[in-house]
This record gives sequence, structure tokens and C-alpha cells, in this order.
Amino acid sequence: MPAAAPPPAPRQPDPLVALADRCVQCGLCLPACPTYGQARIESESPRGRIALAKAWAVGTIEPTAAGEAHLDHCLGCRSCESVCPAGVQYGQLLTVARTRQRQRRLPGWQQRCIEGLVHRPRLLAGLLALYRQVRPWLPSRWRRLPAPPASGLRATGSQTDARIALFNGCVARPYEAGLREGLIGCFTALGIEIAEPAAQNCCGSLHAHAGNGEAASALARHNRDAFAGADTVLTLASGCHESVAQSLDGAAHVIDAIEFLEAQVRARGTALQWRRCDERIALHLPCTQRNVVRSVASLRRLLSAVPGLQVIELDRGLGCCGAAGVQMLADPQRADEFRAPLLAQLHESGATRLLSANIGCRLHLAAGTSVMVQHPLEFLTGLIEATPSSAPSSASG
Ligand code: SF4
Ligand code: SF4
Repeated sequence: MPAAAPPPAPRQPDPLVALADRCVQCGLCLPACPTYGQARIESESPRGRIALAKAWAVGTIEPTAAGEAHLDHCLGCRSCESVCPAGVQYGQLLTVARTRQRQRRLPGWQQRCIEGLVHRPRLLAGLLALYRQVRPWLPSRWRRLPAPPASGLRATGSQTDARIALFNGCVARPYEAGLREGLIGCFTALGIEIAEPAAQNCCGSLHAHAGNGEAASALARHNRDAFAGADTVLTLASGCHESVAQSLDGAAHVIDAIEFLEAQVRARGTALQWRRCDERIALHLPCTQRNVVRSVASLRRLLSAVPGLQVIELDRGLGCCGAAGVQMLADPQRADEFRAPLLAQLHESGATRLLSANIGCRLHLAAGTSVMVQHPLEFLTGLIEATPSSAPSSASG
């Protein structure tokens, strides 16, 4: 008798369908969604996008231009994920849906240009230096970003053998030179040495969130090698944090620099002093800081320790500024509509400074106001009075 054929291998469930099937369609995410809040239609809600992506995956409906636009409009803020009682991993579902969308249709030219630029630091710095020169003469639609500081356009990076390393980012690298200098100076005064590995590159989140998993994986491999000597990696941009953590995949402890600083402040107790600051400032809490990194409590504690400081949190319009990666350049009108309530609240508050912990949000907000916009740590590290003698024996995060 011929041997019986082996049973067919069980079919793997479609990962997108498996993610979508966790949704029980309760609708509790709708009030948290900025695009639903604006449009008030189901297809601009998380539940509507989940149903649409699943219907495309199982073939019950064909993709249309209108359907693709609903997926394009998602800001990737993940406010829906943070309130979902069924544990739907919306961020993961969005990445898979956008990967399939990219197979159906080429991304816009702005997305392709930026994906090609951000992992070439020299070219990016050269173009930003040119932008800085010509910006005053450009029409307003080409002035979507503030001018980068001249100090940020020089190459940075230090190959010390410190076990604590700083992730610099891509666009953030030229814009955040002052922040990094202040932070490293502050940590040095606390007796903590920080390395900035020169070989590091873009985190790849801009690529991953637009469905370009191949480029994101290549950048992840690159960063894993660049940070091979570190056991702790500090991130400054809340939008980069998750991608950096996924790249290092447990090889180093990845921690938001805000949380790291707060741990150091707590460890030193009264040995560390804050300078008084009689100022009213506004605080923007980026969606990625609230929903992904979750360093908001640490930041609030740090700010509340500064004597004399008044902090107004900007919460209008569900707090999302609309930057959403490349969307602030690709769809500036929509991005400005989300930003407008926050800027109105900022200007009504009388605040003289605006703090926000994500580079994309900061660039987008700064382009719409004359109020100084900074990373919270650029502001806070200037107020810490530390001496080397205040360093504890261990500096781990
Ligand atoms: S809250 Fe979660 S389960 Fe409910 S509709 Fe939204 S995604 Fe689905
Ligand atoms: S990620 Fe943000 S914009 Fe997108 S569906 Fe969820 S809440 Fe709405």
C-alpha cells in the first residue's frame, strides 16, 4: 500500500486579519481619535479603518481612492490603542495595512524624498544648510520648517567607550545640537559620561509607518551595530523611541532621556538644586510620548520641582498637533487644522515658551508661532545646579 500523503500544513492566519479580529467594535476608541473628532464619520475612526483594512485583506471589497485616503489620514497617534479595552494593537495593524497599501500604490513624492534623505546625514545637513540660507526668500508654502541652527550643521558624534549612549536621530541631529550639548554638560556635571556613536543613523520609524519595512529593517540592523558597546541608550524624540528599542531588541536598555534624568534627580535628593524660574510656560505632550513612551509622569514631576514655574498643558483638539511624520509636509492644510487649536491655546495662555518632546511636533509647532519652542530637557538642564560631588555611586537608568 502506498504511504498516505502527509496532511497539508495548517494555513497561517493572515496577520492583519488576526489583529483586526481582536476588535469587538465597541466604539470606545472613537472619542479619543483626532480624525474622528474632526470628520465625525465612521471611516475616519479607528474602528472604521480596522474594518476597512480587514475587508481589503479578505477581499470583500476592493481598495478605492476614497478608502486609501481614509488610511492616509490616520495620524498614527495611537490614542485609540491606549484606550482600547480589547487590547487591539492598532499601531501594528496600521503598519501592516500601510505595507500592503505601498504594494498597491507608490507613496507620494514627499514621502519618497524624505525616506531617501533621512539616512544620508551629510546630504541632509548640506540641504538644510542651503535651506537656512535661502529660507527668507522662499514663498510661505516652502517654509514649512524653521531654520536649523548653524551650530547643528556641523558633524557631531563622539566615540567614547561610555556604556550610556545617546540616540541623535536624523532630522533632529542638526536641530537639536543645543539640546544635546546642554544634556551632556548636565550629565557630565552629575558624573555621568555619555557617548554619541558617530555611526548611528535614522531610527527608521518614518519608513516603517509608511509601509517601507525593508528600509526600516536595514536601519535597525545598522543601529544595532552602532550601539553595540552600550548597555543603556537614551532617546530624545518620543517618535523615535519605539523604533530604537525594537532595533536593539533587548541588547541595551532603551530609555527616554526624560525618565533617565528624573531617576538621577530622585537618586540625588536634596544634593541637587533647581534654579528659580518665574516664568509661565506651555507644555505640549506629543501623542507618542503619551501613548507609546509614557514618560509624561516623569516630565510633570521634573517640571513641578522647579520653583516659581507655571506650566499650562495644551490639551485642545485632543492634544494632537497633526505633524504625523511626513503628513505635515505632504498634507499641510490638514496638519495645520489639527495644530490650530493648540496654537490658539498657546497664544491665549500668555506663555513665553513652549516645550514638546518630539522633534516632528516641535518643528511643526515652531513653524506656526513666534513663541520659543524647545525640548523640555533643553529648558530643564539649564536650571539644574549640580556638582560632581552630588553623583551617586551608580548611574544606571
Ligand atoms: S476600542 Fe478597541 S475594540 Fe473597541 S472599537 Fe476601538 S479598536 Fe475596536
Ligand atoms: S492612530 Fe490616532 S488618528 Fe489613527 S485611528 Fe488611532 S486615534 Fe485615530
